[in-house]
Amino acid sequence: MVQPVVEAVNLKKYFPVRAGILDVIRRRPKLYVRAVDGVTFKIYRKEIFCLAGESGCGKTTTGRTILRLIEPTAGKVFFNGENILEYDYEKLKEFRRKAQIIFQDPYESLNPRMTVHDIVEEPLRIHKIGDKSERYERVLKALEDVELKPPESFVYRRPHELSGGQRQRVAIARALVLNPEFIVADEPVSMLDMSIRAEILNLMLRLREEHGLTYLFITHDLAVAKYICDRIGIMYLGKIVELGPAEEVIDNPYHPYTKALISAVPTPDPRDKIGEIPIKGEVTSPINIPGGCRFHPRCIYATRICREREPLLEEVSNNHFVACHLFK
Ligand code: SF4
Repeated sequence: MVQPVVEAVNLKKYFPVRAGILDVIRRRPKLYVRAVDGVTFKIYRKEIFCLAGESGCGKTTTGRTILRLIEPTAGKVFFNGENILEYDYEKLKEFRRKAQIIFQDPYESLNPRMTVHDIVEEPLRIHKIGDKSERYERVLKALEDVELKPPESFVYRRPHELSGGQRQRVAIARALVLNPEFIVADEPVSMLDMSIRAEILNLMLRLREEHGLTYLFITHDLAVAKYICDRIGIMYLGKIVELGPAEEVIDNPYHPYTKALISAVPTPDPRDKIGEIPIKGEVTSPINIPGGCRFHPRCIYATRICREREPLLEEVSNNHFVACHLFK
């Protein structure tokens, strides 16, 4: 059996809500934001696995928990078969070399006072890799890899002297310079102009081939997900409600929430659009997740069983899984 690079098993992350003075006096039970509420998935070598959903669905928290930038409340995370939650300091340091993150906003994620050279070199210095000249060569190579050419003309520039696309390339070079195996890309193109997005997505696809990279790609944009991802997990209120090959899920969705998300995506030709699927009301608060199917207060197909029993993620067609009582 092929071993996944990354595996999350029933991963949970709850954030405590700060209690007010009245809550303490009245001894009200502690409240938690259930940002990630039992998420399970595998990502295989050189695969681009996407987590998609509206903001607040828990996809970014999942990405950060997978990297142990946030400690999970419960569950397990395996990296090449090892539980990273059991790593000691040395193992965690080694893991941090192999697993990197690219953030959404290239304007905020790069230190404006540092040169491009210092930004890309910093991870090498932190991990005490190479001497000054070796590090310089690796910085040049990373800049070349992300198509900032000639790299010598970029090394002494600062972020404000670069375009948005060039900044995101610098962020990718910084993630790449340690030769990672796995990258969490958290909405890496959502802050960029449309014309630049395809360039960055194509760059990520090329780097996957050339460097054997595996990605967890986080996005709210299903068109982007369909373009770049092999498989996709649709998240709603901290849980994956539909999971499968990206094209299959986006072209033939089962879950009413996925259908509603897809029906809201604008298409150049309105005739291509699937009929509008309405959702009732606003996203429920992750502090008060409803019992039964967590989507039931907004679902136009909800019946009694939906209010009483939480549906499990079950296979409905080849490698296509859905958590919905309509598909039993
Ligand atoms: Fe809607 Fe029921 Fe399916 Fe939940 S389980 S998505 S409420 S039909």
